[in-house]
Amino acid sequence: MSKSVAFIGLGNMGGGMAANLVKAGFTVKAFDLMEANLKAAEAAGCIPVTCSKEAVADVDFVVSMLPNGAIVESVYIDGDALLEAIPKTALVLDCSTVAPANSRRVGAEADNRGIAFVDAPVSGGVAAAAAGTLAFMVGGTEANFETAKEVLSPMGANIFRAGDVGAGQVAKICNNMLLAIHMTGTAEALQLGIDNGLDPKALSDIMLKSSGCNWSLEKYNPVPGVMEDVPASNNYQGGFMVDLMLKDLGLAMEASAASKSSTPMGAAARNLFNLHKNSGGEDKGGKDFSSVLELYSGK
Ligand code: NAD
Repeated sequence: MSKSVAFIGLGNMGGGMAANLVKAGFTVKAFDLMEANLKAAEAAGCIPVTCSKEAVADVDFVVSMLPNGAIVESVYIDGDALLEAIPKTALVLDCSTVAPANSRRVGAEADNRGIAFVDAPVSGGVAAAAAGTLAFMVGGTEANFETAKEVLSPMGANIFRAGDVGAGQVAKICNNMLLAIHMTGTAEALQLGIDNGLDPKALSDIMLKSSGCNWSLEKYNPVPGVMEDVPASNNYQGGFMVDLMLKDLGLAMEASAASKSSTPMGAAARNLFNLHKNSGGEDKGGKDFSSVLELYSGK
């Protein structure tokens, strides 16, 4: 008999992830507050259910992909109280991006009830979720990490254990803070070159073979027309939204305050993305994050 998964939260990311579990042979019971997302999950082969408690009855795994930490805590503890209904033999994997403290609270409450829990936030966007090529950063015991791989493998290309519960979220926050820093730095350097008469493609080629080379320059050039198949060449549509980057940078600043770490570059990046979101008389939160170039170009 195939193993069963309750999948809670079938939005942009969760929809594709649940579909990949179906393709891998899992029986997937799906729950979302939005009827349209439930219908899409049903079309992908999931079994739609009308309440979250029904989804988790008798399952081997519970996977959640929800918007934020308050919702995650509400689903598992304070609101739906799913931890009261999840079988003690099941493993819970929360793949949402939330504060490490949210994951640790849910993990501790799960532990009190004898339920295994890992946080498993992802890197990679909607396309990677659909293609099953996400990177998972897992926080949990080694034993739970080994069990988690069975359900994460059909959804991801790379699966890492970062440490104990909450560590996956810390890894995700650090990675995205660095991504924000090198994207703003790359945009700043490219615009300086443009303002001084350089062709951005020629400058990019030079820096790609020089010490300024980085992922944003290599895979995600922010100047329209320099690279094909990146959001910059598609009017900054698709990709990773400014609003989601701001959410992750907010989590990084909370983590930095909690640990009394100095994160001046992360703070600057957060301010730059906030300035960008509110610049030019329109809300740019829905644009891809490489559009931060517009803050420098004035466009
Ligand atoms: P989304 O808003 O498209 O999907 C979230 C889904 O959760 C929605 O369908 C919503 O109806 C559902 N939901 C909300 N409250 C619920 C509840 N109480 N019970 C059941 N369902 C509920 O968001 P998304 O883009 O899929 O992102 C999900 C998570 O993944 C977020 O934490 C985000 O930060 C993270 N993430 C997103 C991306 C990306 O590119 N979109 C990349 C990496 C990580």
